[in-house]
Formats: sequence, structure tokens, C-alpha cells
Amino acid sequence: MTRHAEIAGAGMVGLTAACCLARRGWTVRVHEKASDLREIGAGMSVWPNGIRALEDAGALANAELGTDRLESWQLLDHRGRVLQDEWMSHGVEESRSILRPQVHAALVTSARDLGVEIVTSSRVIAARETGELVLESGEVLAADLVIGADGVHSPVRESLGLTKSKTELPDGGGRHLIKRLPSDPVNIMIETWVGGRRIGILPCSEDQVYMYLCCPADDATGRAQTESLQTWFDDFPQLRPFLERIELGAEWRQFTDVAVSAWHRGKVALVGDAACAMSPNLGQAACVGMSNASALAQALDSYSDLEEALVAWEAGERSVTDATQRYSRFYGWIGTHWPRPLIDLRSALIWTLGRSKRVQNRINVATRHVPSYPAPRSGSAL
Ligand SMILES: Cc1cc2nc3c(=O)[nH]c(=O)nc-3n(C[C@H](O)[C@H](O)[C@H](O)COP(=O)(O)OP(=O)(O)OC[C@H]3O[C@@H](n4cnc5c(N)ncnc54)[C@H](O)[C@@H]3O)c2cc1C
Repeated sequence: MTRHAEIAGAGMVGLTAACCLARRGWTVRVHEKASDLREIGAGMSVWPNGIRALEDAGALANAELGTDRLESWQLLDHRGRVLQDEWMSHGVEESRSILRPQVHAALVTSARDLGVEIVTSSRVIAARETGELVLESGEVLAADLVIGADGVHSPVRESLGLTKSKTELPDGGGRHLIKRLPSDPVNIMIETWVGGRRIGILPCSEDQVYMYLCCPADDATGRAQTESLQTWFDDFPQLRPFLERIELGAEWRQFTDVAVSAWHRGKVALVGDAACAMSPNLGQAACVGMSNASALAQALDSYSDLEEALVAWEAGERSVTDATQRYSRFYGWIGTHWPRPLIDLRSALIWTLGRSKRVQNRINVATRHVPSYPAPRSGSAL
């Protein structure tokens, strides 16, 4: 019998869940509160776990069209020394840097091709564990599974009392797109640390380069990226040719960690930022979210009993997600809050840690993780 899902949120993760379920024979409807379907932001790194999820969603070919392969993630310190050129090196050859709207558009196209119904201007206000999604319009929609992919402030999560904590982290960043020049780096992501500030540079389309400027939340001039970048010019003179190309306008945003008591209750599951928002310091938040969405569809395909599938899914994915959230928070702390007089010690520590395969493997836990469930039941669409 065909099963039906109602999903709150048409961000990258909600759409990945929709596509992966539709490919397995579910009927799916997605509710988006915005009046149009679009993704805000600049570029993103998509590591192998994100690549695998986009493939499962049937969106990879369009998502990676004309984008840069990421072959290396280099970390430089305030003296221009290369501390790391192997961050995330495991499987880095399958990674890409992509414009966020391109990933989102690829997922929308795949969802529509798969017959997913996407309803815009449809605000969700709650979910019930009995498998109902409650809309602001007063409509109550029943489903075999309700999915909350409605972001950091998730009304689905709040209505079920699953929020354990929502923590504003002590760091954040501004995302900028600049014009790409022929002399710009190719197939590489370069991050430079000076004091408590970090600048990342990633080419992500034929004519655009993505830059992120991260700093502590209490760095008022560092945050004021819509007004002036003067103090960034002062701290990063070597990056002036890139900083000069930024058009002021993009806001600095504080990062948030979300922790929940469980990823599911009754017939409702949470994915993406709704379940596990994390700082993007390892470039993993969306990748982990999309991977978990794909894993959810795989688990549902493997077990006939919904509760059994949801329990197996959380058991299979959660420890990887929680570890990635922790490492990402720690990376942000080291990058933005390390005591200034000990900055050279930080460089030595990062250089040393990077030489350890054990540390690399732990930081890369999400990149290397491949969801694994029993073979799909007979009758599965895949
Ligand atoms: C500066 C920065 C850089 C980042 N870089 C990377 C990166 O390089 N790699 C990476 O993997 N991740 C990165 N991330 C993280 C990534 O952006 C998020 O983890 C990802 O967008 C989460 O997707 P989502 O679909 O779960 O949530 P969202 O993108 O927030 O989507 C939620 C959707 O639900 C809708 N919605 C909300 N409430 C309702 C409601 N009540 N009813 C109906 N619809 C609703 C919203 O309008 C939205 O469309 C970055 C984040 C930041 C801030």
C-alpha cells in the first residue's frame, strides 16, 4: 500500500527527504511558509556524505553542473604558514563547492519530476504524534509520517516538546559572493586565521567565488559587514584583492546549536536544522541534514514497522551527527576564541593534530559515514 508523508519546510533537507521518499514509492506533500521557493545564502561545500544524499535524491547531476571539484582544504595562519592541507582529505576528491541556490533548485526540479507536491505560502504551526500536520489555515493533514524539516526555530519540534536546547554560539559569519577572476584559486578551499577572525575562500561556479568572514559574536566591527570591511582589510592585507570585490550588504549571522531529546515521536520525525542545527565551521550542517534525510528514507524502506524504522534510523545516524556538531563547535571556538597571547601555540596545535590520522578520522566522521540498513523489503521502488 502506498504510504504518504507530509513535510514541513522546503529547504535543502526537507526537499531531500521528499525526493528520497518519493523515489521509494511514497506520495509526498511539502509545505513551505514562504511565498516562493528559494534558498538564501551564497555558496557551500558539499562533502561526500552530501554528495551521496543528493545522488539518492536524484538531484546530483543538476546540483554539480559547472561547479568546482574540491581537491583540498587549506588552513593558513596569521604568518601565512600552511597548517593544514588535509582537512577533510578523506574522499575530498568527490567533494564540490556549489552555489546554494543551485543545490536547492536541483532538489526542487527532482522533487517535481518525482511527483512531489510542493505548497508555498503554507505555514505549519504544529504536528501531532498521531501523524497529523497542523497548518495556520486551520487545516489538519493526516499522514503515515510527518517530517519536521522546518529549520532552527521548528514549530514541529516545539509543538512536540522535543527541544532540549537552542544555544546561540559565541561565533558567527557573513557569507559573500564575489566575481571570479582567472587568477583565482581553482579546486581548493582556503581558510586563513588571524587572531579571532577567519576568512574562507571557495570558487563555486564559473564566475563566482564564495567568501565567508567569521568572527566572535562580541567583535562589533567584525560583525558590521553590511557597513564596512575596513578592519578586515587591516587584519588580512594579503587578502585585499578578494575583500575589495565584496559588495557590502550581506549580514553577519550568529551560529546556533540545536539539541533535541529525540529525533522522532510517534509518527513524526525531525531532520536538518530542526533536529541538529550546528555551526557551519566544518561545512557539514546541510550535508549531515541531507544525509540523515536520505537515511530516513532508507530505514523506512527496510522496516515495515514505522516505530522500528525510526528507532533504527536514530540509532544509526545520531552519534555521527552529535559528534559532528561537537567538533564543529570546538573548531569555531579554537578559530575565534583562542587566547590571543597564545596564537602561535594554536598554530602548533593545529599543525600537530592534523598529522594524526586518528584525529582526522574523528573530524571526518560524517564525511566517511555511509548509512546502512537491511536490504529493502520486496516491493520497494528502488
Ligand atoms: C554562514 C553559514 C554557512 C554555511 N555553510 C555550509 C556549508 O558550507 N555546508 C553545509 O553543509 N552547511 C552549511 N551551512 C548550514 C546550512 O545552511 C543549514 O544547515 C541548512 O540550510 C539547513 O537546511 P534545512 O533544510 O534543515 O533548514 P532551512 O534551510 O532553514 O530550511 C527550512 C525551511 O522551512 C521553512 N519553514 C520554516 N518554518 C516553517 C513553517 N512554520 N511552515 C512551513 N515552512 C517553514 C523555511 O522557510 C525554510 O524554507 C551554513 C550555514 C551558515 C549560517
